[in-house]
Amino acid sequence: MTSADATPGPAAAGSGSIVQERRLVTDIPGPRSLEMERRRAHAVASGVSSTLPAYVERASGAVLVDVDGNSLIDLGSGIGVVGVGHAAPAVVDAVRDQVARFTHSCFMVTPYESYLAVCEALNALTPGDGDKRTMLCNSGAEAVENAVKIARHVTGRQAVVVFDHAYHGRTNLTMALTARNMPYRDGFGPFAPEVYRVPPSYPYRDPDGMTGEEAARRAVDLIERQVGPDRVACVLIEPILGEGGFIVPAPGFLRAVAGWCRDRGVVFAADEIQTGFCRTGSWFACDEEGVVPDLVTTAKAVAGGLPLAAVTGRAELMDGVHAGGLGGTFGGSPVACAAALGAIDTMRSLDLAGRAAHLGSVIAGELRTWQAAYPGIGDVRGRGAMMALEVVLPGTSEPDPGTARRIAAHCHRQGVVVLTCGTFGNVIRLLPPLVIDDALLADGLGVLGTAVGEELG
Ligand SMILES: *Cc1c(COP(=O)(O)O)cnc(C)c1O
Repeated sequence: MTSADATPGPAAAGSGSIVQERRLVTDIPGPRSLEMERRRAHAVASGVSSTLPAYVERASGAVLVDVDGNSLIDLGSGIGVVGVGHAAPAVVDAVRDQVARFTHSCFMVTPYESYLAVCEALNALTPGDGDKRTMLCNSGAEAVENAVKIARHVTGRQAVVVFDHAYHGRTNLTMALTARNMPYRDGFGPFAPEVYRVPPSYPYRDPDGMTGEEAARRAVDLIERQVGPDRVACVLIEPILGEGGFIVPAPGFLRAVAGWCRDRGVVFAADEIQTGFCRTGSWFACDEEGVVPDLVTTAKAVAGGLPLAAVTGRAELMDGVHAGGLGGTFGGSPVACAAALGAIDTMRSLDLAGRAAHLGSVIAGELRTWQAAYPGIGDVRGRGAMMALEVVLPGTSEPDPGTARRIAAHCHRQGVVVLTCGTFGNVIRLLPPLVIDDALLADGLGVLGTAVGEELG
């Protein structure tokens, strides 16, 4: 039995009846979770894995309560989904009301207003003031697939250019777009053709002093030589590469790539599935780069935990596809749309973009202190409430995934959910709910700091 010395903070928005504190009453995972793990082994395909097998019973704000009664601090938000917090009141109320009125009609059969309202909101919130249109679907991968369909259809070209360290999903096309073999692609081919990969800007691993413009030149030179600009339908990029390790391109990189696309009639598509909806301190990460993409894909945080995804883009592109060419049975479910409207209201009313910037400065301050103390922390990077540290063998830039895993495992045993990421598996990333209060964040960071000290000290 462990008992954490957590300081209960003021309840975060959406905290419901769950006190916003870390409180451990059993080992993590506890006996009831372990029992469920035994059932799982006989019921769930082993290819579906879990980072921390503490089975969740309820959650609110930034706290997960497991089936053994432990309160865990969630610094992962279910992979960047519950930015508005678990069980955000506006999301819960909107879903409850919608579920009682109707759950499905299929927008392609008999439409409903909430779908329009979500599209209007996304058209208004995504970067750029031009005339925009949106289509809704169910998952991030599906949004990326639709963005590629639209780009190919309107350009009459086939090639899709993506980047090293990219993650775009697990369907056949999006596996092809994703960079990392293990675990995403291995043995799952053949993959979709006409996908080309070029290097992004990765300041920690690029040659010293390489500017964003130089990194962009390196990428577009490859495209020009190996693909040919008039064969390229779209260039697809995450403005901060997420699963690949929270890689923030050098300033000017995105703008230079977008400018090259504009000059050559190539669709510039930003995958803001992980960065979008206030996470980085703005509505969208492209806002901070002064870049207006032709197409934006969104998903994760848009609907406060319900499955919803979207492609938003310039009207003449989005309207370039024949009627019936886009859609899907469940796309833009009325329940998910209601949730999205509640979530977007919450982001606005609580100024979660401002809150993300505040959390980012607190987190970055801590992480940089550790970096100064431990040479095993090669890099600290990110923006807003999307921060990470890259673990390396001291004195080198050689990735050290084993130590990163041990740091994460230490946090898990102490009731703090942190995630790893990175092409080399050596990055610890923090994606707290944006409503987390300062005391709870401080407790979570304290646990992480202790883990870092024990593993790297
Ligand atoms: C998570 C993610 C996806 C895939 O979304 P799913 O909903 O899991 O299909 C695509 N792109 C990025 C940048 C992501 O972070």
